[in-house]
Amino acid sequence: MANRIESPSSINTFKQCPRKYYYTYVEKLPRGSSIHLVRGNIAHSTLEYFYDIDISKYTNDDFEKNFHQTIQKLLFNQWGEYKEKLDALHLSNDKLRFYFEETMMMVINWTNHFIKEFTEELKNNPAALEEVFHKVSPVREMEYKSEEHKVRGFIDAIAYKNNEVHIIDYKTNKKPQIKDSIKLQLAIYCMMYKEKHGKMPDKVGVFFLRNNLQMLKTTPEMVTRAKEEIELIHAHTGITELKTDYQRNITPLCKWKTGQCEFYEVCKPHS
Ligand code: SF4
Repeated sequence: MANRIESPSSINTFKQCPRKYYYTYVEKLPRGSSIHLVRGNIAHSTLEYFYDIDISKYTNDDFEKNFHQTIQKLLFNQWGEYKEKLDALHLSNDKLRFYFEETMMMVINWTNHFIKEFTEELKNNPAALEEVFHKVSPVREMEYKSEEHKVRGFIDAIAYKNNEVHIIDYKTNKKPQIKDSIKLQLAIYCMMYKEKHGKMPDKVGVFFLRNNLQMLKTTPEMVTRAKEEIELIHAHTGITELKTDYQRNITPLCKWKTGQCEFYEVCKPHS
Protein backbone atom coordinates (compact mmCIF):
# COMPACT_ATOMS: atom_id res chain seq x y z
CA MET A 1 0.00 0.00 0.00
CA ALA A 2 1.34 3.42 -0.91
CA ASN A 3 1.59 6.07 1.76
CA ARG A 4 -1.43 8.34 1.65
CA ILE A 5 -0.82 12.09 1.58
CA GLU A 6 -1.23 13.37 5.13
CA SER A 7 -1.77 16.88 6.45
CA PRO A 8 -1.21 18.56 9.83
CA SER A 9 -4.91 18.05 10.45
CA SER A 10 -4.96 14.32 9.57
CA ILE A 11 -1.79 13.73 11.63
CA ASN A 12 -3.25 15.47 14.66
CA THR A 13 -6.50 13.54 14.21
CA PHE A 14 -4.57 10.27 14.27
CA LYS A 15 -2.68 11.33 17.37
CA GLN A 16 -5.91 12.31 19.12
CA CYS A 17 -7.79 9.13 18.15
CA PRO A 18 -6.78 6.59 15.47
CA ARG A 19 -10.43 5.49 15.08
CA LYS A 20 -11.47 9.05 14.31
CA TYR A 21 -8.73 9.12 11.68
CA TYR A 22 -10.13 5.89 10.25
CA TYR A 23 -13.68 7.27 9.98
CA THR A 24 -12.43 10.52 8.44
CA TYR A 25 -9.70 9.47 6.04
CA VAL A 26 -10.12 5.73 5.39
CA GLU A 27 -13.87 5.12 5.52
CA LYS A 28 -14.47 8.77 4.56
CA LEU A 29 -17.75 9.05 6.44
CA PRO A 30 -19.62 12.32 5.90
CA ARG A 31 -18.31 14.94 8.30
CA GLY A 32 -20.59 16.85 10.56
CA SER A 33 -20.47 20.61 10.53
CA SER A 34 -20.57 23.03 13.45
CA ILE A 35 -20.82 26.73 14.03
CA HIS A 36 -17.17 26.71 15.09
CA LEU A 37 -16.10 25.19 11.80
CA VAL A 38 -18.28 27.47 9.64
CA ARG A 39 -17.44 30.58 11.62
CA GLY A 40 -13.72 29.70 11.38
CA ASN A 41 -14.02 29.50 7.59
CA ILE A 42 -15.87 32.83 7.48
CA ALA A 43 -13.19 34.54 9.59
CA HIS A 44 -10.40 33.09 7.41
CA SER A 45 -12.06 34.25 4.16
CA THR A 46 -12.68 37.70 5.62
CA LEU A 47 -9.00 38.16 6.46
CA GLU A 48 -7.92 36.71 3.14
CA TYR A 49 -10.09 39.16 1.15
CA PHE A 50 -8.98 42.08 3.29
CA TYR A 51 -5.62 42.17 1.53
CA ASP A 52 -7.29 42.39 -1.89
CA ILE A 53 -9.04 45.69 -1.15
CA ASP A 54 -8.38 48.80 -3.18
CA ILE A 55 -6.97 51.48 -0.91
CA SER A 56 -6.09 53.98 -3.65
CA LYS A 57 -8.58 56.51 -2.24
CA TYR A 58 -7.50 56.13 1.38
CA THR A 59 -5.60 59.03 2.91
CA ASN A 60 -3.34 59.36 5.95
CA ASP A 61 -6.28 60.92 7.80
CA ASP A 62 -8.91 58.31 7.10
CA PHE A 63 -7.14 54.96 6.60
CA GLU A 64 -7.85 53.79 10.14
CA LYS A 65 -11.59 54.44 9.84
CA ASN A 66 -11.62 52.91 6.34
CA PHE A 67 -9.83 49.73 7.41
CA HIS A 68 -12.36 49.28 10.19
CA GLN A 69 -15.33 49.87 7.90
CA THR A 70 -13.89 47.57 5.28
CA ILE A 71 -13.34 44.63 7.59
CA GLN A 72 -16.91 44.99 8.87
CA LYS A 73 -18.30 45.01 5.31
CA LEU A 74 -16.17 42.01 4.39
CA LEU A 75 -17.46 40.05 7.36
CA PHE A 76 -21.07 40.94 6.48
CA ASN A 77 -20.46 39.75 2.93
CA GLN A 78 -18.80 36.52 3.99
CA TRP A 79 -21.53 35.80 6.53
CA GLY A 80 -23.98 36.12 3.63
CA GLU A 81 -21.88 33.86 1.39
CA TYR A 82 -22.06 31.13 4.02
CA LYS A 83 -25.82 31.53 4.60
CA GLU A 84 -26.68 28.04 3.36
CA LYS A 85 -24.11 26.43 5.66
CA LEU A 86 -25.22 28.57 8.60
CA ASP A 87 -28.90 27.76 7.98
CA ALA A 88 -28.08 24.05 7.88
CA LEU A 89 -26.93 24.29 11.52
CA HIS A 90 -30.48 25.20 12.63
CA LEU A 91 -29.34 27.63 15.29
CA SER A 92 -31.71 30.15 16.82
CA ASN A 93 -31.45 33.76 15.64
CA ASP A 94 -30.10 34.72 19.06
CA LYS A 95 -27.32 32.16 18.83
CA LEU A 96 -26.44 33.21 15.29
CA ARG A 97 -26.33 36.85 16.35
CA PHE A 98 -24.06 35.92 19.23
CA TYR A 99 -21.60 34.13 16.94
CA PHE A 100 -21.74 36.91 14.37
CA GLU A 101 -20.93 39.52 17.01
CA GLU A 102 -18.18 37.38 18.47
CA THR A 103 -16.64 36.93 15.01
CA MET A 104 -16.93 40.68 14.41
CA MET A 105 -15.03 41.28 17.63
CA MET A 106 -12.30 38.88 16.42
CA VAL A 107 -11.80 40.49 13.02
CA ILE A 108 -11.80 43.98 14.55
CA ASN A 109 -9.18 42.83 17.04
CA TRP A 110 -7.11 41.55 14.15
CA THR A 111 -7.63 44.83 12.24
CA ASN A 112 -6.37 46.83 15.22
CA HIS A 113 -3.20 44.78 15.15
CA PHE A 114 -2.92 45.27 11.39
CA ILE A 115 -3.37 49.05 11.75
CA LYS A 116 -0.56 49.20 14.31
CA GLU A 117 1.77 47.37 11.97
CA PHE A 118 0.66 49.47 9.00
CA THR A 119 1.13 52.74 10.93
CA GLU A 120 4.60 51.67 12.04
CA GLU A 121 5.64 50.89 8.47
CA LEU A 122 4.05 54.12 7.21
CA LYS A 123 6.44 56.14 9.36
CA ASN A 124 9.23 55.16 6.94
CA ASN A 125 7.22 56.16 3.89
CA PRO A 126 4.33 58.48 4.86
CA ALA A 127 3.30 59.42 1.32
CA ALA A 128 2.92 55.89 -0.03
CA LEU A 129 -0.11 54.21 1.52
CA GLU A 130 -0.63 51.70 -1.26
CA GLU A 131 3.03 50.75 -1.37
CA VAL A 132 3.06 50.20 2.38
CA PHE A 133 -0.18 48.21 2.21
CA HIS A 134 1.39 45.86 -0.33
CA LYS A 135 4.59 45.68 1.69
CA VAL A 136 2.81 44.49 4.83
CA SER A 137 0.44 42.16 2.93
CA PRO A 138 1.45 38.53 3.44
CA VAL A 139 1.25 35.71 0.91
CA ARG A 140 -2.09 34.04 1.71
CA GLU A 141 -3.52 30.52 1.60
CA MET A 142 -0.46 29.07 -0.08
CA GLU A 143 -0.43 25.31 -0.59
CA TYR A 144 2.78 23.54 0.40
CA LYS A 145 3.47 19.91 -0.38
CA SER A 146 6.35 17.64 0.50
CA GLU A 147 6.83 14.91 -2.10
CA GLU A 148 9.51 13.34 0.08
CA HIS A 149 7.40 13.11 3.22
CA LYS A 150 3.97 12.80 1.57
CA VAL A 151 2.33 15.64 3.43
CA ARG A 152 0.62 18.86 2.41
CA GLY A 153 -1.15 21.81 3.88
CA PHE A 154 -2.33 25.36 3.31
CA ILE A 155 -0.47 28.11 5.14
CA ASP A 156 -2.76 31.01 6.11
CA ALA A 157 -0.13 33.75 5.85
CA ILE A 158 3.56 34.12 5.05
CA ALA A 159 4.78 37.56 6.04
CA TYR A 160 8.14 39.19 5.30
CA LYS A 161 9.25 41.42 8.17
CA ASN A 162 12.64 43.06 8.62
CA ASN A 163 14.27 40.50 6.35
CA GLU A 164 12.61 37.66 8.23
CA VAL A 165 10.07 35.12 7.03
CA HIS A 166 7.14 34.56 9.39
CA ILE A 167 4.60 31.78 8.95
CA ILE A 168 1.27 32.58 10.61
CA ASP A 169 -1.85 30.53 11.20
CA TYR A 170 -5.15 32.16 12.21
CA LYS A 171 -7.16 30.51 14.96
CA THR A 172 -10.49 31.26 16.63
CA ASN A 173 -9.65 29.11 19.70
CA LYS A 174 -10.87 30.24 23.09
CA LYS A 175 -7.50 29.66 24.75
CA PRO A 176 -4.57 31.55 23.25
CA GLN A 177 -2.17 28.72 23.84
CA ILE A 178 0.24 27.12 21.39
CA LYS A 179 -0.51 23.61 22.54
CA ASP A 180 1.29 20.50 21.29
CA SER A 181 -1.00 19.84 18.32
CA ILE A 182 -0.47 23.43 17.12
CA LYS A 183 3.30 23.14 17.63
CA LEU A 184 3.26 20.06 15.42
CA GLN A 185 1.20 21.83 12.75
CA LEU A 186 3.69 24.73 12.74
CA ALA A 187 6.65 22.34 12.68
CA ILE A 188 5.21 20.64 9.58
CA TYR A 189 4.79 24.01 7.86
CA CYS A 190 8.37 24.81 8.80
CA MET A 191 9.57 21.53 7.30
CA MET A 192 7.61 22.00 4.06
CA TYR A 193 8.81 25.60 3.73
CA LYS A 194 12.42 24.50 4.15
CA GLU A 195 12.01 21.73 1.61
CA LYS A 196 10.62 24.16 -0.99
CA HIS A 197 12.81 27.21 -0.37
CA GLY A 198 16.00 25.60 0.94
CA LYS A 199 15.92 27.64 4.14
CA MET A 200 13.93 27.70 7.34
CA PRO A 201 11.37 30.41 8.01
CA ASP A 202 12.61 32.58 10.90
CA LYS A 203 9.46 32.36 13.00
CA VAL A 204 6.20 30.45 13.07
CA GLY A 205 3.15 31.32 15.09
CA VAL A 206 -0.53 31.81 15.54
CA PHE A 207 -2.74 34.85 15.48
CA PHE A 208 -5.37 33.96 18.07
CA LEU A 209 -8.16 36.16 16.78
CA ARG A 210 -9.70 36.73 20.20
CA ASN A 211 -6.34 37.68 21.63
CA ASN A 212 -3.00 38.30 20.02
CA LEU A 213 -0.20 37.14 17.79
CA GLN A 214 2.20 34.61 19.31
CA MET A 215 5.37 33.69 17.48
CA LEU A 216 8.05 31.07 18.09
CA LYS A 217 11.60 31.17 16.80
CA THR A 218 12.17 28.18 14.53
CA THR A 219 14.77 25.56 15.36
CA PRO A 220 16.20 22.54 13.48
CA GLU A 221 14.58 20.35 16.16
CA MET A 222 11.15 21.45 14.92
CA VAL A 223 11.88 19.99 11.50
CA THR A 224 13.26 16.80 13.03
CA ARG A 225 10.13 16.39 15.14
CA ALA A 226 7.85 17.01 12.15
CA LYS A 227 9.63 14.32 10.14
CA GLU A 228 9.49 11.81 12.98
CA GLU A 229 5.78 12.35 13.58
CA ILE A 230 4.95 12.10 9.88
CA GLU A 231 6.94 8.88 9.54
CA LEU A 232 5.16 7.37 12.55
CA ILE A 233 1.76 7.99 10.95
CA HIS A 234 2.86 6.65 7.55
CA ALA A 235 4.24 3.54 9.26
CA HIS A 236 0.71 2.82 10.48
CA THR A 237 -1.63 4.17 7.82
CA GLY A 238 0.57 2.96 4.96
CA ILE A 239 0.18 -0.72 5.87
CA THR A 240 -3.40 -1.25 6.96
CA GLU A 241 -6.93 -0.07 6.29
CA LEU A 242 -8.58 -2.46 8.74
CA LYS A 243 -10.85 -0.69 11.19
CA THR A 244 -9.67 -2.88 14.03
CA ASP A 245 -6.12 -1.60 13.51
CA TYR A 246 -7.31 1.91 14.34
CA GLN A 247 -7.93 1.88 18.08
CA ARG A 248 -10.52 4.02 19.77
CA ASN A 249 -9.01 6.53 22.17
CA ILE A 250 -11.85 7.15 24.59
CA THR A 251 -11.35 10.48 26.32
CA PRO A 252 -13.48 13.49 27.31
CA LEU A 253 -13.15 14.54 23.65
CA CYS A 254 -15.70 11.82 22.74
CA LYS A 255 -18.52 13.66 24.53
CA TRP A 256 -18.49 16.80 26.59
CA LYS A 257 -21.08 19.04 28.19
CA THR A 258 -22.17 20.87 25.06
CA GLY A 259 -21.13 18.56 22.23
CA GLN A 260 -19.63 15.32 21.02
CA CYS A 261 -17.21 13.84 18.49
CA GLU A 262 -18.76 13.97 15.03
CA PHE A 263 -18.54 10.15 14.87
CA TYR A 264 -19.93 9.52 18.34
CA GLU A 265 -23.11 7.81 17.08
CA VAL A 266 -21.33 5.41 14.77
CA CYS A 267 -18.43 4.78 17.16
CA LYS A 268 -20.51 4.30 20.32
CA PRO A 269 -17.52 4.59 22.62
CA HIS A 270 -19.55 4.32 25.80
CA SER A 271 -21.80 1.37 24.98
S1 SF4 B 1 -16.16 8.97 19.68
FE1 SF4 B 1 -14.19 9.00 20.76
S2 SF4 B 1 -13.28 6.99 20.36
FE2 SF4 B 1 -14.92 7.31 18.86
S3 SF4 B 1 -13.94 8.20 17.07
FE3 SF4 B 1 -14.67 9.90 18.30
S4 SF4 B 1 -12.93 10.44 19.60
FE4 SF4 B 1 -12.51 8.40 18.81
